[in-house]
Amino acid sequence: MKITRIRIFKMDIARTDVFTIATMKLEKAENVLIGIETDEGLTGWGEASPFHALVGETQRIDLAVAQELRELLLGKNPLELADRVGEMDAFLPHNPTIKSAFDMALYDIAAQAAGMPLYQFLGGTRRPLETDFTISIGRVEEAGEKARQVVEKGFRIIKIKVGISDTEDYRRVEAIRQTVGDALRIRVDANQGWDRMQAVANLNRLAEFDIEFCEQPCRVADVQGLKYVSAHSPIPIMADESVFSPVDALRLVEQDVVPYFNIKLSKSGGLYRALQIAHIAEAGSRKCMVGCMSESRLGLTATAHLGAASPVFQFFDLDSFFEHAEDPVIGGVQVKDGFIHLPEEPGLGARPDETFLKRCEEL
Ligand code: MG
Repeated sequence: MKITRIRIFKMDIARTDVFTIATMKLEKAENVLIGIETDEGLTGWGEASPFHALVGETQRIDLAVAQELRELLLGKNPLELADRVGEMDAFLPHNPTIKSAFDMALYDIAAQAAGMPLYQFLGGTRRPLETDFTISIGRVEEAGEKARQVVEKGFRIIKIKVGISDTEDYRRVEAIRQTVGDALRIRVDANQGWDRMQAVANLNRLAEFDIEFCEQPCRVADVQGLKYVSAHSPIPIMADESVFSPVDALRLVEQDVVPYFNIKLSKSGGLYRALQIAHIAEAGSRKCMVGCMSESRLGLTATAHLGAASPVFQFFDLDSFFEHAEDPVIGGVQVKDGFIHLPEEPGLGARPDETFLKRCEEL
């Protein structure tokens, strides 16, 4: 099989609400869509959702890099996943988000060729994928009402973004816990917003609200700080921005830094490396979450297939499209009462809507 054509689309999706975290603000999703076609009539799809402050990529960077990767991959066999991923990494050591869109499209083709839905192609099984719903940083007065709306939609897990103001973080988490009662699970994410002493103080104060875990309290550069916080926090710590690659995962296991990893295709460079991280986590007796950026249901479907691939995934943060004003995807995952349901057709099982594609700029 040979790759005969690679299509690159600028994919903008309006949001119903501005998404604010400690390190950046997102007014709309500025993504990139990749379509890979083969001489055997199969087409694979992939999506990149670059978060510049976390990954160092923007839509414009990704559109430029995508054209370089297209030249690299044209004419090659899409089924040789290890070689194709190795070539992309050798050509460009960074840029994991745009590489993940190519990796996703290659896996889509490979799973279609095998006649299996992607989760099965990855060796997984249908397992319950209960996702959280993220409440981003906002006004204390509105936090309770936001949480009430999330509960009304049937979700039982809430992830709260924190990390800008210690006092307001405390009051927002307090308001949300008071609104939802004891039955719901609450997790928090500081997105590197704290130094190590501030993190330990904040986590000790937040512990009264029964928090499941806290993502990324400290800056990426402060690995020993993360370890210090993990040792001194009553709330378990999950590495997110600190684990992009399999090498990062190895280091965190070897240095016994944290019990949990958040794996995202946009950080790992796609499914191939994400699975390597999952295997390292499993060997190191760590538990993982699958997470997302602001992908449409297309990119999110690939992440959900990954979540079903291994029991090492115990936590699911699959809410990237919940606040998108538009849903330009045919097939793909469905959400019901907080659970994500995977499609059953071979491959990814999701493709862009043709009418939407016609509106997108193609490069
Ligand atoms: Mg996070």
